[in-house]
Amino acid sequence: MQIKRLRLSGFKSFVDAADLRIEPGLTGVVGPNGCGKSNLLEALRWTMGENSPKSMRGAGMDDVIFAGTDARPARDFAEVSILAEIDGGETEVVRRIERGAGSAYRIDGRDVRAKDVALLFADAATGAHSPALVSQGRIGAVIAAKPAERRAMLEEAAGIAGLHVRRKDAEQK
Ligand code: ATP
Ligand code: MG
Repeated sequence: MQIKRLRLSGFKSFVDAADLRIEPGLTGVVGPNGCGKSNLLEALRWTMGENSPKSMRGAGMDDVIFAGTDARPARDFAEVSILAEIDGGETEVVRRIERGAGSAYRIDGRDVRAKDVALLFADAATGAHSPALVSQGRIGAVIAAKPAERRAMLEEAAGIAGLHVRRKDAEQK
């Protein structure tokens, strides 16, 4: 899987629509302190289904919505789109959150469950907790991880994390 394009609107400091092309290979994000580098990585993880507001550095999930500044009013929604090449085809995943109303997901324009998005990325050996997304402090977290946590990271990297979800589903049926 390769992420080819990231579009954001109203997500954290990205109040205006931003459209970023991501080229093959390693991508680094550089810029002055506070310009939104970490916010970009968070946008990727959020769209892949991250559901912990704390890991988005917020108190609640609505904190990912542009909160306003002296010069600009707050927004009432945030939307992020990831265009990815998976198995030779292009897939667009969109997550949208409305203030006070929670999140909704779309894959190629179809409304889907959060779980469908998680499975899509898990099968493509990536996802919100993928070691392919190296956020600030992450190297230290890998070193300090407990064995079970490190195993989960390895399973995600190997693309087998989705199998656990499906086994759990099957056991409940
Ligand atoms: P550093 O180099 O210090 O790690 P960075 O480039 O990673 O900085 P970020 O942490 O991505 O910067 O961005 C921080 C900025 O995003 C801050 O100015 C903060 O006010 C802004 N920000 C975060 N959430 C929101 C929000 N909901 N609404 C508006 N601005 C926000
Ligand atoms: Mg940062």
